[in-house]
Amino acid sequence: MNVNWDVSQNPALLKLDLYCRGIRLAEDCQADEDGRKILRTRAGLGSGLELLLPGDLWTNVPVTEGFAAQSPYSLHFEQGEPVIRRNGRRVCAVRLSPCPSWYGRTTSSGKPMTSIGSLQGTYLGIYLGRACDFWRGGDKKENCHFCSTGLNIGNDDEKDKRVEEVLEVVRAARDESGVTYIDFNTGFLDGDNYLEVIEPYVKAVKEETGLLVGVQCPPESDFSRYHHLRALGVNRVSFCFEIFDPLRFEEVCPGKARNHGLQRYLDAIEYCVPIFDTTNGEIIAGLESPESSIAAIDWLTERGAIPTVCVFRPLVSTDYKHLPPPRVEELVPVFRHLYEACMANGLPIGIAPNVHVSLVMLPDEGRYLSDDPDRHPWKRAKLALMRNLFRTRFYLGQWFRNGSPRPQKPLCAP
Ligand code: SF4
Repeated sequence: MNVNWDVSQNPALLKLDLYCRGIRLAEDCQADEDGRKILRTRAGLGSGLELLLPGDLWTNVPVTEGFAAQSPYSLHFEQGEPVIRRNGRRVCAVRLSPCPSWYGRTTSSGKPMTSIGSLQGTYLGIYLGRACDFWRGGDKKENCHFCSTGLNIGNDDEKDKRVEEVLEVVRAARDESGVTYIDFNTGFLDGDNYLEVIEPYVKAVKEETGLLVGVQCPPESDFSRYHHLRALGVNRVSFCFEIFDPLRFEEVCPGKARNHGLQRYLDAIEYCVPIFDTTNGEIIAGLESPESSIAAIDWLTERGAIPTVCVFRPLVSTDYKHLPPPRVEELVPVFRHLYEACMANGLPIGIAPNVHVSLVMLPDEGRYLSDDPDRHPWKRAKLALMRNLFRTRFYLGQWFRNGSPRPQKPLCAP
């Protein structure tokens, strides 16, 4: 069986192609007003329009970057329904990601709630601590060249976030948006004290809500601290080494190369796999060869870690703004391999309840790109069983804790 290359029939291919080409908004299109505002929060590789594609695939489509102006894709409204066209021909109907009711509100301290945290797909992302220190030093700054984090502080994202402010936003996102998972992240901090910064927030959120929590920071120098993080209840850790080719890593991520080195990221991943429910290693496809991205996927999955594979986006004002985005033909083998490698190694993909991610294509979404999507019937049956058990346990836990089976309205409800 071959991959279906028709974007109107294959939502994963459409998701990838939209990452690569972006979309133009037709003149009559009010997407940014009807759906979620385009936020330049501190996630270093995203900035687009949040959409739901067929198959319940959430995505974040480039619109402000220069290459999107040349895209064959355009977004229109037909009888009030948003529709994607390619070169003027209808591809499919889509939905705008719902704009959360709390997006227009402020915390009791007076800060816009979206400056504390924002939804990415269906989870809440919260950036903590001061701006990544790789952005300091003027001409000597060592930021990763694809990253926009240092450009966004003070625009849409708040520098100082108090625990109570974070809790307020978490409560709103849980009660009104059905959020089940909170993702905390930091950039590089001089002093390597990431967990010290993050732990008070993790502790408060876990104790009060019992929601799933993940942490994404550079690797600590003292790995034993990860046991303490686990004891606080953290479910997932993620390490963004971005590039697996050692020479390319040094070119793209000079600060990470000088301060930590690729090996420390890899060592931290191996250390954390037995400790946490999920350990992720994050890479960016399109900034190194597809073969190198595939080698990274193999390295991670053979050790029990789940790869998070982003697609390079040449964001406005970044050092790499002039580079072309990757071509979808280069990405398909990478994301097909992502799905196959996770299945071959029996990794628990797609089991967290109501977690849909817009900024990356998830491993289980890569199934649409497989030569034979039905190749692993028993493993898929096992994953479905795990998904149901995990979901039941999670919502029962919420019910016992809150007296009601929150979240009441999952965002992905049809
Ligand atoms: S470590 Fe690199 S990718 Fe992360 S915030 Fe800093 S510059 Fe951006």
